[in-house]
Amino acid sequence: MTRTIIISSPQTRSIGCGLDLAIQAERKSRLFRWICQSNETICRALVIYFCMFIFLFATGCAVNPVTGKKQFTLISEPQEIAIGEEQYPIATQVSGGLLQDKALQAYVNNVGQKLAKTSHRPDLKYEFNVVNSSAVNAYALPGGKISITRGLLSRMENEAQLAGVLGHEIGHVTARHVSNALTRQLTAQLALATFSAYLEAKEIKHREYYSFAGLMATQLTLLKFSRDQESQSDELGIEYMSKLGYNTEGFVQMLGILQSAASREPSKVEGWLSSHPLTKNRINGARTRIAQRGATGSNTTFNMEEFQRGTQILQKIAPAYQHYDQAEKLMAKKNTQQAIVEYRKAIDLTSDQALFYSDLAFAYFKINNLREARVNIDRALQLYPGLFQSRFYSGLIALQTPDYSRALTDFGRADKLIPNQPSVIFYQGMCYEKLTNKDMAVKKYQQVLKLTSEGEYAQKAQERLTALEAANAAQ
Ligand SMILES: [Zn+2]
Repeated sequence: MTRTIIISSPQTRSIGCGLDLAIQAERKSRLFRWICQSNETICRALVIYFCMFIFLFATGCAVNPVTGKKQFTLISEPQEIAIGEEQYPIATQVSGGLLQDKALQAYVNNVGQKLAKTSHRPDLKYEFNVVNSSAVNAYALPGGKISITRGLLSRMENEAQLAGVLGHEIGHVTARHVSNALTRQLTAQLALATFSAYLEAKEIKHREYYSFAGLMATQLTLLKFSRDQESQSDELGIEYMSKLGYNTEGFVQMLGILQSAASREPSKVEGWLSSHPLTKNRINGARTRIAQRGATGSNTTFNMEEFQRGTQILQKIAPAYQHYDQAEKLMAKKNTQQAIVEYRKAIDLTSDQALFYSDLAFAYFKINNLREARVNIDRALQLYPGLFQSRFYSGLIALQTPDYSRALTDFGRADKLIPNQPSVIFYQGMCYEKLTNKDMAVKKYQQVLKLTSEGEYAQKAQERLTALEAANAAQ
């Protein structure tokens, strides 16, 4: 398949499967109002385009790797892989980026890879990561790209629980639930419209600059599975983990963690619940399966010590993230000064988390303290150069300072992290204009109009183009 079809397609915007984007920061400075927009027309066009593409190239039957039965599918394995590879980095950005701890990432990836090797599709290129979100969630993208949030992982106590949730997600991949759900949702076409309404209602954090690219990625992390698919994934998860000698009680413990989080902090578990229905029946079903086929004997393991060692960092940073979550809530309530106090408390406790500095920089930017904004965004970029939000903020701060060359560099890097965001392209145009490179400015504004024909950026780009033409004519 031609990856370019998806890559170069204007994307859409979104939130994540349980991502902590539900904590909304209302961020509407003058600059940010420019960014705030979505483009439903393009979204719909994308879906139709995408569906046509799928129908044209992929319609057919494939053998389900789990059941061994032939099954109608619209997405071939190479397509699954291509979609996953392209969208996973974006889904990661929308979920707070990767938690910056090599030992933790290596530990989780190792557990995941071992499980994947025992699965029905051992040859896929699996990837397992911890994303830096306080939400309690895990998700799988087509082709075997799987993430678990800091919020969920930090509630776990042993490796069997982790193996349970990763095994379950692998089950969705191996039984091709992910592709089936994707096919179903994309062909339904209504999905995106519904999803846009969901976004409107949720006031998604940072949605202003994920307005385009994030939607497809988040759509993928929010794929809804049926109850039957959930039980099948439970069964597969239990099977994979028991093959490795884990005590399958860990699986039920994991469901218990989700259940208790759902009753105590429902907003944090929303993403998981919407994509993976968690019912009493399901927990009972898992119990029955474990009683029949599970592994709970003395020769099985919870690997508690390995887990504690591998996830040490999470205990260390947890108190700081409580302040950070508090700060985010305050930002949502537009209490910027108090939020700054909380961000600072978070930094006092743990001084190496890029997200703290990045969001603190934005808070300073909002109250027009550009000096503090710059100091903090530089620190954020130093700690995590590949986080889209920091690059974007840095560009905005430079634009306001003004330091147009710096802004141009930042927006250029942001564009590499999540390509084709009208907001990013528009600001590149503004930088070129300020640097009196009219040709490039025109090019960028035209690019915005190619990506989106309506909305604030299209309007702004059109205005700038008209102004530049008028200036040309006057010369
Ligand atoms: Zn599930």
